[in-house]
Amino acid sequence: MQQYKTEAIRNVALLSHSGAGKTSLSEAVLYSAGVVNRLGRVDDGNTVSDYDPEEVKRKASVQLSMLPLLWKENRVNVVDTPGYADFVGEVIAALRAVDGAIIVICAASGVEVGTEFMWKYAHSRSLPRLIFVNKMDRENADFYRTLEAIRGKFGKKCVAAQMPIGSHTSFQGLVDLITLKAYLKDREEKVPDPLKAQAEKLRDALVEAIAETDDDLATKYLEGQEIGVEELKAALRRGTLEGKLVPVFLGSALQNIGVAPFLDSICQYLPSPKDTAPVVATNLATKGKEPISINGDSPLAALVFKTSADPYVGKLSLFRVFSGTMYSDSQVWNATKNTGERIGQLFIVRGKTQEPVPQLIAGDIGAVAKLSETSTGDTLCLKERPLIFETIPFSNPPYSVAVHPKTKADLDRLGSSLARLCDEDPSLRVHKDQDTGETVLSGMGDAHVEVASERLKRKFGVDINLDVPKVPYKETITIKTQAEYKHKKQTGGHGQYGHVFLELEPRPRGSGFEFTERVVGGAVPRNYVPAVEKGVSEGIPEGVLARYPLVDLRVTLYDGSYHPVDSSDMSFKIAGLQALKKGVMQAQPVLLEPIMNVKITVPDNFTGDVIGDLNGKRARVLGMFPEDGLTTIEADAPLAEMLRYATALRSITQGRGIYTMSFARYEEVPAHIAQKIIAEAKKTAEKS
Ligand code: GDP
Repeated sequence: MQQYKTEAIRNVALLSHSGAGKTSLSEAVLYSAGVVNRLGRVDDGNTVSDYDPEEVKRKASVQLSMLPLLWKENRVNVVDTPGYADFVGEVIAALRAVDGAIIVICAASGVEVGTEFMWKYAHSRSLPRLIFVNKMDRENADFYRTLEAIRGKFGKKCVAAQMPIGSHTSFQGLVDLITLKAYLKDREEKVPDPLKAQAEKLRDALVEAIAETDDDLATKYLEGQEIGVEELKAALRRGTLEGKLVPVFLGSALQNIGVAPFLDSICQYLPSPKDTAPVVATNLATKGKEPISINGDSPLAALVFKTSADPYVGKLSLFRVFSGTMYSDSQVWNATKNTGERIGQLFIVRGKTQEPVPQLIAGDIGAVAKLSETSTGDTLCLKERPLIFETIPFSNPPYSVAVHPKTKADLDRLGSSLARLCDEDPSLRVHKDQDTGETVLSGMGDAHVEVASERLKRKFGVDINLDVPKVPYKETITIKTQAEYKHKKQTGGHGQYGHVFLELEPRPRGSGFEFTERVVGGAVPRNYVPAVEKGVSEGIPEGVLARYPLVDLRVTLYDGSYHPVDSSDMSFKIAGLQALKKGVMQAQPVLLEPIMNVKITVPDNFTGDVIGDLNGKRARVLGMFPEDGLTTIEADAPLAEMLRYATALRSITQGRGIYTMSFARYEEVPAHIAQKIIAEAKKTAEKS
């Protein structure tokens, strides 16, 4: 039974570069809070957070997981997230559910590129942050060097709130710089004498940083007055909530050192749902925007931020209650889908297990099974107050594969299983390419689509092969021309007669195909015009160069002739089709290829290499935007060159870059490349 109030809730996401120890830290906090009685290890594949077979195999998280615990009088909902850029969709979803973030940094590796990305994500949502310097027991661990790197990257607002006692194999604990209490293996002790001077010095720096964020304290500090511990804690909390301070803590998740004091700090310094600015939602009834009050007695508003397919309970929707209370066995309104939803048993989810609860209060996070209409990003509320929260901004997945089912049985289940997979993970998309006929699955990178394919097999029993997708080329004409075709056959009795003049002209890129007519004097009688149009339309899906669809041209029927007896729809249809083919040949046809708009973000020092590589890929660099040590390069590049960019970028940057890609427009393929594509298409056509 929940006995906590909204004020006591802390919703926090663990963010880091992959491998800094988020999963180990979440395991350690669960252990410290008495939720588990054995400290699981990532390397043994037995943590509460990484339970999926895909995670155990990779020894890394691939999806967010909920790890709620009770700590003293607080409910702490820890959300563990994946560190790999491929699974960033999970981070984006998690950040919509939490009020604060914990950036985990390895004391030996320091600030890594993933740290910078996570910082950026937390910053973009203005989330108050704490930093946890982990792995203090590791060889080469250095708190002070790491702190310096943190301050160098993220600014002086990052201040040490603790200092270590011992390091590497002799790492034993820490000193809390506000209370000047030492924690040796988390037992409270006195600060060891040799560390006193250093502790005083660091405390002074911390107090000064806190005082700078608060006018009253600044005066006291400058006047040399003593500032009380509670006063400092309160000011550090305020500074953290306002984003003016980011306190830095330390410990070892693996040795479970510093974890209990860190839980205290989470409760002390991170916001409760009541401390955050109200979330704005659109009220469909009034069409206005409304700040959503967090009070438990205000009407219900909850956001579904994650959907997963649980092997036992089926579809499970994770949601965060922003206002009101959600009750088990109740009726709610899904304003996004404009439909009612029946809520069955509510759960609190912990890793792969669920604990039934009668209700979830404002600010809390929980789950419900088997919602029929609801998907990720939907708002659940009351019908009288239909609210919609801002959608979750999942990025456009840039990496695509063609999906080929292995057997007929796999084919039958492919569509519905892929749809469910995409429902679970909105950063995964699937579509059928009308031009190539392929089913294309897109994700954030190769690991993402591989995990998707493993899941497809494990959860839905569907076996697939993944291939490089075909490029959907198109064909068009470049000059205006006129073409005549007379279809005339005299075979015994009834003959065939259709005669047309077509004008073909290029249209602007992206405007598609258009058929018009301006026949005068009944040269082609009205009733045959639709047949001509039909014939022309039949020729549009297969151009003359390499059988790719024709686009961006206008075909005008302007003249022709008919025979009172022999003319028929069929004859005019044939004439239309043949005149089109003739005309296209005359009109200097060309191949078009999709051009993608690509945004690549890498640490500054890789900018040159990335641009060099792009130049070799026929890309046009549009701009470079440096920010906080990372540069985003924007470029337009042909899809044909970017199909395996995830792999290229990884090898250029040793895995330190991310990119997004979206369709921009079609452009003419350069002649020498077009020749190869046409030759290739001819070969394939001859074979088949
Ligand atoms: P995540 O990817 O951020 O979730 O990191 P994990 O928790 O999976 O940890 C990555 C690796 O670092 C694993 O091999 C852990 O055993 C190890 N690790 C995590 N925390 C610590 C720590 O405090 N000390 C040491 N020495 N190793 C750690």
